[in-house]
Amino acid sequence: PEKEVPNEELIDYRKKHLGKSLSLQYKVPIKMVRGDGQYLIDQFGRKYLDTVNNVAHVGHEHPDVVKAGQEQMALINTNSRYLHNNINELARELLETLPPELSVLHFVNSGSEANELAIRMVKANTGARDIIASEVGYHGNTNMCIDISSYKFDGKGGNGAPEHTHIFPLPDAFRGKYRGKDSGVKYAEEVRQQIKKVEEKGRKVAALILEPIISCGGQIELPSGFLKQAYTYIREAGGLCISDEVQVGCGRVGKAWWGFQLHDVVPDIVTIGKPLGNGHPLAAVACTREVADRFANGMEYFNTFGGNPVSCAIGKEVIQIVKREKLKENAFEIGCYLKEELIKLAKKFPIIGNIRGEGLFLGIELVDEKLHPLAAQTDYLANRMKDHGILMSTDGPDNNVLKIKPPLVFNRENAQELIIRLSKILEEDFMKS
Ligand code: PMP
Repeated sequence: PEKEVPNEELIDYRKKHLGKSLSLQYKVPIKMVRGDGQYLIDQFGRKYLDTVNNVAHVGHEHPDVVKAGQEQMALINTNSRYLHNNINELARELLETLPPELSVLHFVNSGSEANELAIRMVKANTGARDIIASEVGYHGNTNMCIDISSYKFDGKGGNGAPEHTHIFPLPDAFRGKYRGKDSGVKYAEEVRQQIKKVEEKGRKVAALILEPIISCGGQIELPSGFLKQAYTYIREAGGLCISDEVQVGCGRVGKAWWGFQLHDVVPDIVTIGKPLGNGHPLAAVACTREVADRFANGMEYFNTFGGNPVSCAIGKEVIQIVKREKLKENAFEIGCYLKEELIKLAKKFPIIGNIRGEGLFLGIELVDEKLHPLAAQTDYLANRMKDHGILMSTDGPDNNVLKIKPPLVFNRENAQELIIRLSKILEEDFMKS
């Protein structure tokens, strides 16, 4: 049983001894003590339906993942300089899901580390260091990752884009700079303008880094044709293309294993994180043979924990569960159902301006009749949903997007419950104010 420590005491201690920039979720923080499938359970035994946690990909504390980790931990855990079956087996499982061009893997411990390594690869391959990225993109917490994350350097405490980072406008076809049908071409042109800017300075573009659905940007689906055209421009300029799949990868988008596959492109580098370890710190970089070989310039790449037998046992089990339990197919089926129901809800409640996303990676954007963002209502909705036992997160540059990215075991009944609760709260007075 969980030790009885009052929440106030936990909060006080955190305030005194943990960094101030670590935030807590909710005005009255919750202490979670157990996870189970698509549910989290707090210290009072209250069960919450979790639509936030895309890390617990195959379900919180999936028994097969727990078993795989426990059994391997009892046997051996060392670095990857010794031979071990697990690293090869995880590689094999992952490569089966990727296009044949992406045939080389490096294992690391977090999404940030994966993107950090991807940028090192880009520099070693191109000899260049100018990176093009999206407005409100987020790629991780390290020095380099912050330098390419407009979400951070353009936000509170940030100092704007560094000299070698070039930001194009958020490719948001609903409320962005270009809207509607042919916006894909226009946003791709914005990428080309950034390439030109770099070249006018006498430098060369190193890479484009982008999520296939921009998560922190508010679940922004890339407009049709955009990614393919942007990749063409980048490659013509000698740069590489990185797809950051840390949030959306491993089958979440339903139609495909990876978000880039929705856009008929093959990146040079793919970064994989959160879902791969189902909560255990495990991430990976997949790249082409050519990119990997140019990176291997004689300097050894050593990573103490990356690719260790315990992490790999867990990762292998996660990918096998996605395949065995048909969770990609479930993401597609339940995602389609939920999206249809949300669209019906939007017809009834005009405050819902836009429903978007793929599979179990959806966004609900709240706006007024002039398309002005409604952050207070979005925050209210998320907090009231928590009162009703459903965890939801908010994001986007204007904090007016509710995000839905649950463990992939999320089922039809869960979707129905979500819709019922949302419609109840949308009737409340505050939502009309
Ligand atoms: N890329 C994206 C798109 C992310 O959302 C995140 C984390 N939120 C990261 C990279 C960094 O991953 P990590 O927190 O595991 O370092």
